[in-house]
Amino acid sequence: MKPADFWRLCLFLAIGAAFGALFQQSLIGIILSLLTYIWTVHYNLTTLAQWVSGANAVQGPEKSGIFEELNYSINKLFRRHKTRRERLTGVLRQFEEATKAWPDAIVVLNQMDDIEWANPAARNLLDIRWPEDKKQRVTNIVRFPALREFINSPEIAKKQTIEIISPLKPDIYLSALMVPYSETHRILTTRDVTEIYRAIKARSDFVANVSHELKTPLTVFRGYLEALGMQKDVCPPTWEPAIKQMREHAIEMSDLVDTLLKLSHLEESQILLDDKPINMKALLEEVISATKQIYEEKNHIINLDVEASENLMGSKRELYSAFSNLTLNAAHYTPANGTISLRWHKEGSDLVLDVKDTGIGIAEEHLPRITERFYRVDSSRTRAKQGSKNGLGLAIVKHVVRRHNASLNISSEVGKGSCFSVKFKK
Ligand code: ADP
Repeated sequence: MKPADFWRLCLFLAIGAAFGALFQQSLIGIILSLLTYIWTVHYNLTTLAQWVSGANAVQGPEKSGIFEELNYSINKLFRRHKTRRERLTGVLRQFEEATKAWPDAIVVLNQMDDIEWANPAARNLLDIRWPEDKKQRVTNIVRFPALREFINSPEIAKKQTIEIISPLKPDIYLSALMVPYSETHRILTTRDVTEIYRAIKARSDFVANVSHELKTPLTVFRGYLEALGMQKDVCPPTWEPAIKQMREHAIEMSDLVDTLLKLSHLEESQILLDDKPINMKALLEEVISATKQIYEEKNHIINLDVEASENLMGSKRELYSAFSNLTLNAAHYTPANGTISLRWHKEGSDLVLDVKDTGIGIAEEHLPRITERFYRVDSSRTRAKQGSKNGLGLAIVKHVVRRHNASLNISSEVGKGSCFSVKFKK
């Protein structure tokens, strides 16, 4: 007890005793003054409780004794709390301003994929309105099977992106990324990539148009060169090596133009024209036989292991092209007497083709770019050895794989070999 409180109690008791003595009832006077003191303390405590709880925001308890000290400490706490709250509100306001100005859509989802928060850009890109769409399932608003699959797929863990079309405008392309940030919550961000899409489309249209324009003159050119090569009486023998070389280059160029046109077609068309069940064993045997013919001199051992009996649905022409590109690459980049293994098997409910070789392998830094058009690990060496290797093989594989709703996985070790796996989802 503080001295001030002690003296006040004494004063109360003395007044009570004096007042009681007037009526020869000092004890009753003391008891009454004690009760009054207890009531004062109780009143002060109640006022304090109301003040702390915020019910009485203006007045604290009486400012003397222990209550004066309590008043001071609580006031100090209040002030500190207020400063902290103001600072936090400032940070929150800044964050809100920043996310409002941010051009990408940001949507916070809980474990049920319900919307917990969204910024204004989400309205323009995904038609998600905040706060109207609070607690709505995101896939009920953005109704794309691809998005649903993406949200539930383990690819999210690898921070991969997918491309979707804006639910508001079909000519707006969005790139979506999902970032888990706690045990239960995830952030879905989407960015407008229409300009990039248009640039890619313009490039691909340009390549398709140029290839198309080159095709006819090249065919004529090749025809004349072949005719010239056959007419020994017209063509002087000194010209023969030059004409032979021109013919080879013309064949190479026309192969390149054909491959570019094929690639443009794969990029452009959305649907498979010949979607039929495919006998994988027969198809892979065909691929192996063609590879053996081309790389006969390398004397490779080529194994075929068909473990899955299921037929694959797809375009036989496209799949032949993809599988033969993988097998031809395996043969091309594997030294003589090496081993190439093709394995068709099941992984859960998915069907998988592995094309494995014991070749030169690919360094890890090249793997992310290996399926780009014209990308080669060692362009000088590849070009010098074989004219038909034009750096488009894996680009074709990538598009065929995408068109069959499959995925391509590449693992490789320099000097040991590579494995290209195509996984067809059920
Ligand atoms: P290319 O016509 O040059 O083979 P691709 O698109 O088929 O073009 O392959 C791109 C590059 O990937 C190749 O230049 C080569 O460096 C590398 N590559 C592809 N397959 C293999 C493989 N099985 N082993 C080693 N390197 C490979």
